[in-house]
Amino acid sequence: MHEEAIKNLIVEKISSYQSEILDFTKRLISIPTENPLGTSYKACVDIIAKKLHEIGLDYTIIDVPDITDRNPFPRYCLLSFNGKGKRTLYFHGHYDVVPAQNDTQFRPYVEDGKLYGRGSSDMKSGLAAMIYAIKAIKESNIELNGRIGLVIVPDEETGGARGSQYLVETGLLGKDGIGMLMPEPTSGMIWNANRGAISLRITVKGKPAHVGLHYQGVNAFERMLVVANALLEVKADIESRKTDFKIEPEAARRSILLIGGRSEGGTNFNITPAECSFTVDRRINPEEDLETEKKSLFDLFDKLRRDGIDLDIEILQEGRSTGFPEDHPVAKTLADSVKLIIGRIPSFEMCPGLLEIRFYAQQGIPSFAYGPGLLSVSHGPNEFVKIKKIYNCATIYALTAAQLLTS
Ligand SMILES: [Zn+2]
Repeated sequence: MHEEAIKNLIVEKISSYQSEILDFTKRLISIPTENPLGTSYKACVDIIAKKLHEIGLDYTIIDVPDITDRNPFPRYCLLSFNGKGKRTLYFHGHYDVVPAQNDTQFRPYVEDGKLYGRGSSDMKSGLAAMIYAIKAIKESNIELNGRIGLVIVPDEETGGARGSQYLVETGLLGKDGIGMLMPEPTSGMIWNANRGAISLRITVKGKPAHVGLHYQGVNAFERMLVVANALLEVKADIESRKTDFKIEPEAARRSILLIGGRSEGGTNFNITPAECSFTVDRRINPEEDLETEKKSLFDLFDKLRRDGIDLDIEILQEGRSTGFPEDHPVAKTLADSVKLIIGRIPSFEMCPGLLEIRFYAQQGIPSFAYGPGLLSVSHGPNEFVKIKKIYNCATIYALTAAQLLTS
């Protein structure tokens, strides 16, 4: 089939699905897949599975075992492969949402061409767009030289241990991948890179004593100051490193060390504090290596221990940074499809936070985020998505897949 013919077919198909896409997105939003705690995951996975069945797509639901023991509610991943052959373009998304900030957020409504509700932007509209993109390709009878792999996971908002990370550990993520697209709310840009993270809680130990007997105690607060000062000394060096990936404003290019996002300790003004803790959030640029940066922090803590400071380190989360060039063929195909539909080439930027593209990137699979939502309203009390952008994204995903998998 000729390129132009494929484009016309896909555009026509997606416009004929518009009311279905909107209706399906609303149904996804109405299920409160809040994370934490993730109590309604089953209901959401069930309606996605039902939709895939309606479209005539096979799927597998994976019941993820409780590895951590921290959350007793079940977790499910959903995989679906369409097309034939090995080479696979992945569409990857998450169905969990951050907790609602008011009780109307799970009652989606439309106003001025916008769909409001928790997850409308991040990223239930994106899930609907991906699923309908596959439907469009299927119903257009476009012969694919490869497959579209649909991967839908829980727990993205809390690190993905029982979502993407579990799929990595079981060898189910990214097999035969030639590329990956995900519908995070990128505000019209393509994210081709993301920062990595090592987030820690440091607990400095002392010994309690009444103020009158302070000489019998060890002041954990004063010791914590020594640790914090040692970190402040390395902070200047860290902040002098700037990424070459695009991100605005200029200050956002600096590598990050955030000290004391949360801190606590002591029991009262008249008792030597026995314990003080504070968090450290080290966010690394795509050019920095997670292991190297982690080691340099831990070497510093070891030195402080040798100096006699008793401290414990708890790792709260860690994730790699990644980055792919803007002129990578997958990026170019995506950007060209965006241009075909909205009339201009999108700009590329680094995502300021952690992103699940890292799970694919660590296997060398070029991964990019482009979604219908806006980052600025995601996770907020008035989360919305422009409805037209959902349809545009569905068209763009289908065009990108058709282009990459028919060539
Ligand atoms: Zn998201």
